[in-house]
Amino acid sequence: MVKPQTKNKMQDVAKERIAKLFELARKEFDKYPERSNKYVKQARDIATRYNVRFPKSLKIQFCKKCGVFWVQGKNVTVRTNKKTKSVEYECKECKAKKRFGY
Ligand SMILES: [Zn+2]
Repeated sequence: MVKPQTKNKMQDVAKERIAKLFELARKEFDKYPERSNKYVKQARDIATRYNVRFPKSLKIQFCKKCGVFWVQGKNVTVRTNKKTKSVEYECKECKAKKRFGY
């Protein structure tokens, strides 16, 4: 009965670290885009290790396929599709598409 709490705490720490990594990725993108991709990779490793899910706000910031950190107008195209009521993200690096309902 005590164990789940420890697990939650670890996940909280993991979530914090992930958020920090994305913050860093955003900050350094202009100067070192390849560093941003490394931060994304680290964040994904942490998420896998601690079984943490990315919140939607973070999911729209990287390409799941090639792992690149997305910056609108640079390496990702964002389109709204009124028909399907969704926002479509297209990675300019690997052409992968991701769709989110709104
Ligand atoms: Zn991609």
